[in-house]
Amino acid sequence: MLPVIALVGRPNVGKSTLFNRLTRSRDALVADLPGLTRDRKYGEGRLEEQSYIVIDTGGITGDETGIDHAMAQQSLIAVEEADIVLFIVDGRAGLNPADEMIANHLRRSGKHHYLVVNKTDGIDPDVAMADFYRLGIGNPIPIAASHGRGVLSLMEDVLAPY
Ligand code: GDP
Ligand code: MG
Repeated sequence: MLPVIALVGRPNVGKSTLFNRLTRSRDALVADLPGLTRDRKYGEGRLEEQSYIVIDTGGITGDETGIDHAMAQQSLIAVEEADIVLFIVDGRAGLNPADEMIANHLRRSGKHHYLVVNKTDGIDPDVAMADFYRLGIGNPIPIAASHGRGVLSLMEDVLAPY
């Protein structure tokens, strides 16, 4: 079984950076998978023998009109399509009201999700994570997508059930 992993979170938290790190080929599988459309960005990745699909999304700001509204809708559809959601937050910016909105949505969705604190390079990861326990959706996992730190360990956890 090919697990589908959605990356959701506010704009600028590092979703696309993580997407690029997790995938080799992009958009290659869209034609093969019924129900997937080109409105979101799909990629394929592999950890040892386990392949997976990743969905990148535009982001959710919590205050959507116009194009932002469309982006947020795509993110919600990505959550529906996914087996696993990686909820990415910015460890430098700290907790944001939009993060709480997304956390509430994920809680209601019942989707298997991980709370991923990005941009923990060059800062104390424990301090960066402290804020995010308050979201009440599980233990934050520190990574630095642009450096790759924590990404392998995260993916081992995420893919362990598959
Ligand atoms: P997205 O809008 O969520 O897709 O975010 P992007 O992947 O486009 O990244 C937004 C900005 O954050 C870019 O300038 C990235 O280089 C930067 N960024 C992403 N990951 C990291 C990280 O781990 N550490 C740092 N310091 N910057 C990062
Ligand atoms: Mg992006």
